[in-house]
Amino acid sequence: MEKITWRCKDCGYTFESDAGKPPPESCPGCKEKCEFLNVTCYVPECGMEGQDPRLK
Ligand SMILES: [Zn+2]
Repeated sequence: MEKITWRCKDCGYTFESDAGKPPPESCPGCKEKCEFLNVTCYVPECGMEGQDPRLK
């Protein structure tokens, strides 16, 4: 299954979840209700998986 890599806007914590699922309401890193950025790599330059380095 495809994975989405999310990054917490507040603490920078990154984690993966299954594509099709929304990110959790509260951040696993800082336990706050955070906004999450989708930083999944979709292009061959970064290997099509994990985090896109250009989105750091
Ligand atoms: Zn956080």
